[in-house]
Amino acid sequence: MDKNLIFDAHTHFNDGSYADEGFEIKTLVKEAQEAGVGYFLNCAFDLESSKLALEQATAYPNMFVAVGIHPMDVHNFPKAALEEVARLAKSPKVVAIGEVGLDYYWAKEHRELQKEWFKAQIDIARKNNLTLMMHIRDAKDNYEAYDDALEIIKSLPAPRMIVHCFSANETYAQKFLDLGCYINIGGAVTFKNAKDLQTAAKMIPLNRLLVETDAPYLTPHPLRGQKNFPKYISYTVAKIADLKNLTPKEIIKHTTENAFQVFNLK
Ligand SMILES: [Zn+2]
Repeated sequence: MDKNLIFDAHTHFNDGSYADEGFEIKTLVKEAQEAGVGYFLNCAFDLESSKLALEQATAYPNMFVAVGIHPMDVHNFPKAALEEVARLAKSPKVVAIGEVGLDYYWAKEHRELQKEWFKAQIDIARKNNLTLMMHIRDAKDNYEAYDDALEIIKSLPAPRMIVHCFSANETYAQKFLDLGCYINIGGAVTFKNAKDLQTAAKMIPLNRLLVETDAPYLTPHPLRGQKNFPKYISYTVAKIADLKNLTPKEIIKHTTENAFQVFNLK
């Protein structure tokens, strides 16, 4: 492990828009490396992206994979898809099950189904000693998905757990920390209106913090509105360093150490 290099602990090289728009993964990886990123977690969101992430990771020793089905998509899959996730989870490059969880942003329907799939995919993480990469999203100023997720992981904890793209507040950060979770902070922390998230980032202990791009989404300020790439993670690192009154180097050292820990890497 090189603690001077950034670990982008949640990104999507497998997002179809990169290929559609002519971006080559090898170029994106190279540009990220030139920007100081040494390690990647290529996160899946359905079966196809799970397989693609695995295929992409074979070319890069420092690219790891999460396989799983996103809560917004579970209603489109037959139950048998869980067996496929369980089978893919055994691939050597897989370190996590993700992104899985609860997304209450749009519809009220499918909530029970989302919970069922969340639990079933936690079970796969438990059986394979894998990390749980959680996607939890609510409508604005609402915390029902966060509450339900907390309740589920309290009774069904995975060996190691991450809240990806954390977007709640200090109180909720503490609730997840109390359950042993790591908290992954993305580009949203750089947004001017992200006061709650910035306050949370300030208090999250250095030994539980991770950084991510969630590329191609959530591009950090001042590039907000453009397509996101792993090479832009340094804006997020700089913002967290600023909030915590530390240097980017210190943030990188801790978050990379934490990522190795939480993904159970040597
Ligand atoms: Zn994502």
